[in-house]
Amino acid sequence: MIQNTEKYRKFGLKLTPQRLAILRYLDGNKSHPSAEDIYNAVSKEFTTMSFATVYNTLEVLREKGILRELKIEPGKKRYDPDTTPHHHLICIKCKKLIDIYKRFKLTLPEDIAREFEILGNHIEFYGVCPECKQRNSQ
Ligand SMILES: [Zn+2]
Ligand SMILES: [Zn+2]
Repeated sequence: MIQNTEKYRKFGLKLTPQRLAILRYLDGNKSHPSAEDIYNAVSKEFTTMSFATVYNTLEVLREKGILRELKIEPGKKRYDPDTTPHHHLICIKCKKLIDIYKRFKLTLPEDIAREFEILGNHIEFYGVCPECKQRNSQ
């Protein structure tokens, strides 16, 4: 966490105890939590922390590029502390998100790319996870 603190300082982030608690919760977190999930976890330690503080912190982290925002479900943003390029596999039943670290060869024809300099892509694969599939067949 000490070296991480340095890392976040480099982003020009003011580190309050609340922000550190949020960052600690997100560090290495693979669950792609929503703002509500993060609030529920962190407010156990910081009982005075408001949902607005959590939400505003997430906005700051997103602006600084520390966090990636995922709009998987309408009206519910989810956050990914892993900002390296990767894709997602999404269960439409339980909304579980799984990271896919695989490069897909995707080329955009010139006429569609419209002289854009393409910097990256994000693919969302939808389906039903094995757990939900089993639950359905019971
Ligand atoms: Zn599922
Ligand atoms: Zn991810």
